[in-house]
Amino acid sequence: MFDALTDRLTSVFDGLTGRGALSEKDVSAAMREIRVALLEADVALPVVKDFIAKVKKEAVGEAVIKSITPGQMIIKIVHDALVEMLGGEDSDPSLRIDSPPSVIMMAGLQGSGKTTTTGKLAKRLKEKDRKKVLLASLDTRRPAAMDQLAVLAGQVGVESLPIIKGQLATDIAKRALQAAKLQGFDVVILDTAGRTTLDEQMMAEAEEVAKIANPSETLLVADALTGQDAVETAKRFNERLPLTGLVLTRMDGDGRGGAALSMRAVTGLPIKFLGVGEKLDGLDVFAAKRVAGRILGRGDIVSLVEKAGEQMDAEKAERLAKKMSKGQFDLDDFAEQLRQLQKMGGLGGIMGMMPGAKKAKQAMAGANMDDKVIKRQEAIISSMTKKERAKPALLNASRRRRIAAGAGVHVSEVNKVLKMHQQMATMMKKMGKGGMKGMMNALGG
Ligand code: GDP
Repeated sequence: MFDALTDRLTSVFDGLTGRGALSEKDVSAAMREIRVALLEADVALPVVKDFIAKVKKEAVGEAVIKSITPGQMIIKIVHDALVEMLGGEDSDPSLRIDSPPSVIMMAGLQGSGKTTTTGKLAKRLKEKDRKKVLLASLDTRRPAAMDQLAVLAGQVGVESLPIIKGQLATDIAKRALQAAKLQGFDVVILDTAGRTTLDEQMMAEAEEVAKIANPSETLLVADALTGQDAVETAKRFNERLPLTGLVLTRMDGDGRGGAALSMRAVTGLPIKFLGVGEKLDGLDVFAAKRVAGRILGRGDIVSLVEKAGEQMDAEKAERLAKKMSKGQFDLDDFAEQLRQLQKMGGLGGIMGMMPGAKKAKQAMAGANMDDKVIKRQEAIISSMTKKERAKPALLNASRRRRIAAGAGVHVSEVNKVLKMHQQMATMMKKMGKGGMKGMMNALGG
């Protein structure tokens, strides 16, 4: 999986990293190539469009870090966008297990690997989580599928519900729950019936079962090799069943990977596991970062850029601390603080982290510091010359008028920013002396 995509991206990146500087044309050309690479990997078009837009926006806005080439920076940006597309760094793939018996319902088309995955999950729950697991097949129309699950249960060393011929799926579900309660099972996995195509009867039956069994997890098993068909299937299932996650099988196969890449973005459902082989241990926990790393194959560069970024933040903080202690806090520093604020989820977020910050929070709320305001303030500051930013005392009335015109705001807005800067500078000075307590006093007083 992903081999062709990896090759394509590698050649794009090779073209970028060799050089010291990149023109806008270079970046645009690279974006076009990445776009084609993703489309060729069969990623859904809207997902590709979003992805490229995000990468472009980041690439333009990103501050240049010393010791990093622009090409390396772009690899990191592409990496991060890929991680996000796959569900984000802290996507939690663990299964929710409720008080026993906790029910996991498996859904999917016939041949998707549903029964095999049921066996793999049972093995995992038994061996890793030390759970007592009961398997039950609800595939009343295919006796062979029922037998297959019983055989798998035997291989894993877990119990399977005795088969009673002619029983309805809903009745089997009830019987499984009862058996689990009586015999002290922690987890019941219900392997529902699959068809070769979606049909109404199958959906209605699955809906019924979900109502009766009230599963803590309802997982859709989809074959990654079927590409966009798998995505379409997931969409349709998701409309009818309370799905909680996805398992993509045959990730060990020779597919283009588009299904795996679009699935999360299209359905909004987390990918929880990847099937990576026919054997019972062929199940990987899904981790967005790992998959992105595998596709890009540039883990070295990603961690290099991450480290350099941390280094840059540390350097900035140190510079600021030095300036603060000397009572120098110019408008560039102020703008930098505004950017930091935005990064950390606005002022509310930061204030929430500080103890005893209620008063300060109220003061800031009075100043109405939402994101829009912060952006406007940044625009005002960037309409100033370098000299003005370093020496705000230069800003007489005519300069202020010029800046207001440049930022498209009224002069009073410029005055507000200067006043805030002034207050913050005073506050920083006190903070330089009295630490956090000094700052709190400055804000509250
Ligand atoms: P079901 O009809 O959805 O229950 O599908 P099965 O579980 O019977 O699987 C169909 C076939 O796919 C079997 O031959 C499995 O061994 C195979 N299979 C299932 N998952 C994987 C996987 O992750 N990788 C590979 N290579 N084969 C798989």
